[in-house]
Amino acid sequence: MQRIAHLIGGEPASSSSARVGPVFNPATGEQTAELELASKSTVDSAITKAATAFGEWSARTPINRARVLFRYKELLSANMDELAVLVSREHGKTIDDAKGSITRGIEIVEFACGIPQLLKGEFSSNVGTGVDSYNLRQPLGVCAGITPFNFPAMVPLWMFPVALACGNTFVLKPSEKTPSCPLRMVELAHEAGVPKDVLQVVNGDKEAVDTLLKDDRVKAVSFVGSTPIAEYIYHTGSAHNKRVQALGGAKNHMIVMPDADVSQVTDALIGSAFGSAGERCMAISVAVCVGDDTADSVRDSVAKAASNLNVGPYTDSDSDFGPLSNKAHMDKVLSYIDKGVEEGANLVADGRNLKLQGYENGYFVGPCVFDNVKPDMTIYKEEIFGPVLGIVRQDSYADALKLVDEHELGNGASLFTNDGGVSRHFIEQSKIGMVGINVPIPVPVAYHSFGGWKRSLFGDHHMHGPEGIRFYTKLKTATVAWPGGKKTGPEFSIPTLS
Ligand code: NAD
Repeated sequence: MQRIAHLIGGEPASSSSARVGPVFNPATGEQTAELELASKSTVDSAITKAATAFGEWSARTPINRARVLFRYKELLSANMDELAVLVSREHGKTIDDAKGSITRGIEIVEFACGIPQLLKGEFSSNVGTGVDSYNLRQPLGVCAGITPFNFPAMVPLWMFPVALACGNTFVLKPSEKTPSCPLRMVELAHEAGVPKDVLQVVNGDKEAVDTLLKDDRVKAVSFVGSTPIAEYIYHTGSAHNKRVQALGGAKNHMIVMPDADVSQVTDALIGSAFGSAGERCMAISVAVCVGDDTADSVRDSVAKAASNLNVGPYTDSDSDFGPLSNKAHMDKVLSYIDKGVEEGANLVADGRNLKLQGYENGYFVGPCVFDNVKPDMTIYKEEIFGPVLGIVRQDSYADALKLVDEHELGNGASLFTNDGGVSRHFIEQSKIGMVGINVPIPVPVAYHSFGGWKRSLFGDHHMHGPEGIRFYTKLKTATVAWPGGKKTGPEFSIPTLS
C-alpha cells in the first residue's frame, strides 16, 4: 500500500514509527494509501526550515518572486490532468469539476504574479516642509495554512501563492482525507523555483495543527474548514499572538422572487445544490421561494431535473456528480435526511439507497429535495454538506431576507429576480459576505476577496485579492526629512521636550 508522508525541505520525510491514517477512494470504498500523521517534532522541523529560509526569500525583489510564480502557473496548467485525477481519486468529484477548481486556483497564482504592483504603498510628499511620508507592506515570517477535504487544490492555492509572493515562507497542513494533490502542487512549486525550505507540507491531524498554532515562530494562520474548528483555530491562534483568518461552514440561501425565470432558477439550483455532491462551501442548500406558486413551480421543476442527474464515479465521464468524500460523512448526510423526514419536511426527491453496480461500497447518495422545510428544523439550521436541497416558503421578500439574515452562518447568498430595486436592497442590506444576483454561486474571482460573515469567518481578513495581501503583510509608515535645497532644516510638528 502506498505510504504518504511529508515534504520537508523538498524531501519526502517519513518515519516508520509515525501514527498513520487511511486514505480512501470514495467511489469504491477502497483504501488507497496510508498517511503519516506528523508528530510535534516533525512539524517543528518544518517550521525551523521555513523560519531559516525567511531571510533570503523576503529579501528578494518582488519581481523576482513574481517570476517564480509565473513559472509555477505554467507548471500547474501543464500538469492539470494529473492534478485533477489526484483530486478526484481522493475526493470523488468529477474530473471536470476538479479541473474547474484547479483553474480557480491557478487564477490566484496569476493574481499573485502582480505582486510588484500589489505591494506598492502610498506616498505623501511634503507632510511638513521637506518631509515626506510613505508606507511599506512587509512580510510577516512563517505562515501556516490548514485546509479542508473538499477543495484539495483550490483552497491551498488561495493561501500559499499570495503568502509567498508577499515574501513569507509557508507550512501547509492539508486535509488528511485528500493529501495527494497538495503534495504534488508543492513539488511543482519547488520545480518552478520556490526554494525548498520556503514551502513545506506536513500531513496530520490535531497534533500537527496544535503545534502550528502554538509555535511562536508561526506568525499567521490561514484556515478553511468547519465552523467549530474554525472557531477553535481563531481563539487558539489569537491566544498565541498570531494573525488568524479562519473560514468556517456555510448554509447558503437562494431567494427566488415570483418574477424569476423558473428554468433559469432550476439550472442554477441543480448546479449549485448538487454539483460536487453539495460538498462546496458555496453550494446553495436552501431555496427560499417567495409565494406558494413560486415554490410549487420550483419544487416540480427541480425535482424533475434532479431525477435526470447521473451519479457515478469520476472515471465515468457521464457522471454529473460523484460520491461523498468518506463513509463517516455519508452516514452523517443520510442521518440528516432521515431527520428531515422525521421532523415533517416533504422529501420530494429521495437519493437514499442509491446503489451503483460495481461500486456497491462507494459513498454515493443521490440528489434529495425537501419541500416545506421550516426554520426550526435541524435540516434548515445545520450545514449538511451533501446533495440535499431544502425549499422554504415565505410570503414576502422581507420575510425571505429576514430568514437569510437570522441564520448563524453568512457565507454566500443569491437572489433571482428581474427587479433592480429589490436586487439593490438585497446587496446593500443582507448580512452575508458574498452575494449574487441571478448568479447561483457568487464566488469572488482571484482579484477580489473571498470570505463570509457571522459564524462563517473568524478574523478580520477575507482570502486572496486585496484582503489576502493585507493579511500576509504588516504595514510600516515612514516619515522622512531631507532638507533638500533649504539651509534651515525641515519644518515639521513633532512632539519634543522643549
Ligand atoms: P474540518 O474542520 O473537519 O477540517 C479542516 C482542517 O482542520 C483539516 O485540515 C483537519 O485536519 C483540521 N482539523 C480537524 N479537526 C481538528 C481539530 N479538532 N483540531 C485541529 N485541527 C483539526 O473540515 P472538513 O470536513 O475537512 O471540510 C468541510 C468543511 O469545510 C465544511 O464545513 C465546509 O463548509 C467548510 N469549508 C468552508 C469553506 C469556506 O470558504 N468558508 C471552503 C471549503 C470548505
